[in-house]
Amino acid sequence: MKAFDLKGKVAVVTGGNGGIGLGMARGMAEAGAAIVVAGRDAAKNAAAVAELAVLGARAIAIPVDVLDEASCKALIAGTVRELGRLDILVNNAGINIRKAPQGYSAAEWHRVLDTNLTSAFLCSQAAYPEMLRTGGGKMINIGSMMSIFGASFATAYAASKGGLVQMTKALATAWAKDNIQVNAILPGWIDTALTRRAREDVPGLHDNVLHRTPAKRWGEPGDFAGVAVFLASPASDFVTGASIAVDGGYSIQG
Ligand code: NDP
Repeated sequence: MKAFDLKGKVAVVTGGNGGIGLGMARGMAEAGAAIVVAGRDAAKNAAAVAELAVLGARAIAIPVDVLDEASCKALIAGTVRELGRLDILVNNAGINIRKAPQGYSAAEWHRVLDTNLTSAFLCSQAAYPEMLRTGGGKMINIGSMMSIFGASFATAYAASKGGLVQMTKALATAWAKDNIQVNAILPGWIDTALTRRAREDVPGLHDNVLHRTPAKRWGEPGDFAGVAVFLASPASDFVTGASIAVDGGYSIQG
C-alpha cells in the first residue's frame, strides 16, 4: 500500500543497534527506508547494519553518544552528508537506573533525564532545519508505561518518560505548520537487554508482567515494526502529538 511506502526516505534510529530500536529499524527497512543505526557500541552497530542489509536495505552506522550535544548534532549532519536527507527521526535511546528515590545522586538523576529526554529534544532540534528544507518529516519518541504510571524503583525514568509525552505534544504543536508530525510510542513490557537486567534486579517481575498484561506475554522488538512504519509514513500525516501504547493491553486493564 502506497500510504505505508518508505522508499526514498532516510530514517535515523538512536539506540537502533538492538532491542526495540532495531525492531523498528527492521520494519522501516522492509518498507523501503534507508536506515542510520545510531548507538555507542561499535560492534552492536555493525551487527545491526549487517542484519538490515540482509533485508535489502541501505543501512549505515553513525556512532553517537546522545549525552553529548555535539554528538547529537554530528549525527544529524553526518546523516545528511552520507545519505542526502533526513525524513524520520526515532528518539529511542534510553536507560534506567533502578533504585529507591532517596538513593539517587544528582549525577544519576541527570544521566537518566539527559539520556532519555534531553537527547530527544537535542536530536529533534538538530533535525528540524533539515526536515524543513525537504518539506516535512516524522519524529517518533519512545516513551513507556512509566509515561503514565509510577513505580517505586523508577523515579528518574518515569520523570523522563512522562516528560517525553509532553515534549511530543509541544513539538507537534510547534511544527505541525511545517508538515512535521511528532508522535510517541509507549511500549509495555518488552523482552530486551534492558528488561532482562530488570528481571534479575526486581524479584517477581516476570510473573507480575504476565499477570498484568492481558495478552499474557512479553512484547518482542518485532511488535514495533508496524507502528514505526505507520508513524514514519504518509499513512499518519494527520496524526500528531499522539501517544500510542504498544503494550498487549497493559495500560487499559482496570
Ligand atoms: P536496549 O537496552 O536494548 O536499548 C537501549 C538502546 O539505547 C541501546 O541500543 C543503546 O545503545 C542505546 N543507548 C543508551 N544510552 C545511549 C547513549 N548515551 N547514546 C547512544 N545510545 C544510547 O533496551 P530497549 O530496546 O528495551 O529500549 C529502547 C527504548 O525503549 C528505551 O528508550 C527504553 O526506555 C524504551 N522502553 C523499553 C521497554 C522495555 O520493556 N524493554 C518498555 C518501555 C520503554 P548502545 O548499547 O550502543 O549504547
